[in-house]
Amino acid sequence: MTGHDAKVRTIRNIGIIAHIDAGKTTLTERVLYYTGRTHRVGSVDDGTTITDWMAQERERGITITAATVTTTWQDTVTGQSAQINLIDTPGHIDFTAEVQRSLRVLDGGIVVFDGVAGVEPQSETVWYQADRYHVPRICFINKMDRPGANFAHTVAMMRERLSSVPLPVQLPIYEGEAFVGIVDLLRMRAVYFSGEAGAPATEGEIQNQVLGGVEARKELVERIAETDDALMGRYLRDEPIGEAELYGALRRAVIAGTLVPVLVGSALYNRGVQPLLDAVVRYLPSPLEVRPVEGSHPETGNLERRSAVPDAPFCGLVFKVVSDSFVGRLSYVRVYSGLLETGRQVYNATRQSTQRVGRLLRMYAAKREDIDRCAAGDIVGVIGLKDSVTGDTLCDAEYPLLLESIEFPKPVIRAAIGPQIPMDQDRLMKALHKLAAEDPTFSVEFDQQTGQTVISGMGELHLEVLVDRVQREFEVPCAVAQPEAAYQETATRHARAEGRYVHQTGGSGHYAVVRLALIPGARGSGFVFENRAPSQDLPQGFERAIERGLQGAMEEGPLAAYPVVDVKIVVTGGRFHEVDSHSRDFEIAASMAFKRAYLQSRPILLEPVMAVTTRVPDAYVGPTVTDISARGGRISRMQFTEGQKGYAIEATVPLSQMFGYVTTLRSLTNGRGRYTMALAHYAPVSEDRAAEIIEARRDRARRVR
Ligand code: GDP
Repeated sequence: MTGHDAKVRTIRNIGIIAHIDAGKTTLTERVLYYTGRTHRVGSVDDGTTITDWMAQERERGITITAATVTTTWQDTVTGQSAQINLIDTPGHIDFTAEVQRSLRVLDGGIVVFDGVAGVEPQSETVWYQADRYHVPRICFINKMDRPGANFAHTVAMMRERLSSVPLPVQLPIYEGEAFVGIVDLLRMRAVYFSGEAGAPATEGEIQNQVLGGVEARKELVERIAETDDALMGRYLRDEPIGEAELYGALRRAVIAGTLVPVLVGSALYNRGVQPLLDAVVRYLPSPLEVRPVEGSHPETGNLERRSAVPDAPFCGLVFKVVSDSFVGRLSYVRVYSGLLETGRQVYNATRQSTQRVGRLLRMYAAKREDIDRCAAGDIVGVIGLKDSVTGDTLCDAEYPLLLESIEFPKPVIRAAIGPQIPMDQDRLMKALHKLAAEDPTFSVEFDQQTGQTVISGMGELHLEVLVDRVQREFEVPCAVAQPEAAYQETATRHARAEGRYVHQTGGSGHYAVVRLALIPGARGSGFVFENRAPSQDLPQGFERAIERGLQGAMEEGPLAAYPVVDVKIVVTGGRFHEVDSHSRDFEIAASMAFKRAYLQSRPILLEPVMAVTTRVPDAYVGPTVTDISARGGRISRMQFTEGQKGYAIEATVPLSQMFGYVTTLRSLTNGRGRYTMALAHYAPVSEDRAAEIIEARRDRARRVR
């Protein structure tokens, strides 16, 4: 093993994945405290946590930005040390893009559940996303101190709801009503926590009040043995199996995704944190143990794999960009292969530009440190990458590679925005563009029809947070209009048309004719382009211009100036002139042909329909369901959660009917209700409502003009 191999083997790139309120922030805080990088325990409830460093995050008590914090831990049982790069993942569904981007770069995850609420719908969503990215996991059932916390029930729910096999490696120990410690089923020892932050755990014999310990241990060993033929033989022959062998086999099973160890604790009361950290070191993979990253050569398109070795050509992924008040633009990069060094030029294969690495920063919870180089497998903050954005691939210019970019959901909500003082327009645009560069699910556009600047994002809260940042960080007072759903348009039947852009009166002329067929596509198919025109009528050289013209025309559809989606355009013919035809002429002709065809295609409006999960105590189910129905919602599932004595109501509701839901729900349930939502799909708007929406939009355009 080389020196680098030994080092990279100690790295754990992990994230804590959780439903909002499960205790992710509290646990992160404890992890940083126990691993010795911070000296006081922060609290979510009084707004002093370290990862939640942005002012409005503190106020709202949610984590929005993914910062990576580096820390170290030594397994208290095996003595093995690890460098843990903790990648922050947000819990609120409005910020799913953040969850996805962090899943993409982390090698393992701690999934936190609330021991009272059990497996909540949003935990399921995140779980399946983690499956998609093949992220090995360990589970932590938190809040075991709360009345109503139920370990067995939560494990049963996990078995029923989640794709993997949950395997308890611990059991909670109670003294009377108080949760005081855990049984380590692999070592069959009782471990107690005083509850004081940072205090070492104490160990003892398992007392007989811990019911089911022997059976749980038996099942644990059997499950682990099942994953390994050699162990299984010995298990069946009743031969002893040592701890180290169990750890090794369990580690392999976790990395393969066949088993998911389940641990318990109470982050708030400092119970179970050290064994959880031990489990991170012991069971979660190092960058060498995950599948090599795959990318394609930007020119040849050939697939290439790169593993985490330092002497391979450099490649890395920019997974987060923030404007940092101290250092300016800071890009977080996961280095997949080779070395990243200060002062070096790197090639941004996505933007096709060369950029210089100014400084490399290792981020700790409370400080940052300049480093000279960062090797494969590690994560680092980079200063100096001027135009790199989230999702870009950086590589060695001589060995270019394009990693699969991160896919982000499209914004579903939009709102017009303007400065309080007209003079601030430029500063406002600057601020908005900066924020859009950081956040791929947030965009800024100029709406041709209404003449307004429009921002789009994932939900009301998302836009609120961003507007808040414009006012605070960029100090631009601004006004935001009532948000509306991000509507789309599409065609419903075939149409054909011709576009002619011909001006040949004296001097240099213009000549372009484009004929095309428009075919409605399946929902979600996007824009599909095909050129079937004979090349003697329409030389290949104009193809790109035609495609560009179509794309431009589709940005603001002829029906109501919303983007046109899900259509296939087949160019069937055209004409050109040896001298007078320019690319730009074909762009215009294509756009004209599209508009004509589209208006004959019986276009309709589409609206975002959301998957909404509302959680309310028993007593409020009636009015909550009535309200959801009144919003045009369709209820798909109602689930009773024992621990919370309440229901999770799952429904699909048009986004346009969800504005202000937070306030209504609060008053309907005396503040006890909660909800999450995510895009389910786009669906046609009824003709009456479409007419209203189109009229309102025209009206606004007239007023603004
Ligand atoms: P996040 O939304 O997942 O980041 O959750 P937070 O860490 O903000 O926790 C949500 C709430 O649960 C806060 O009021 C915490 O104090 C509380 N909390 C977190 N962990 C525990 C725990 O182990 N026991 C109890 N009783 N409360 C907890």
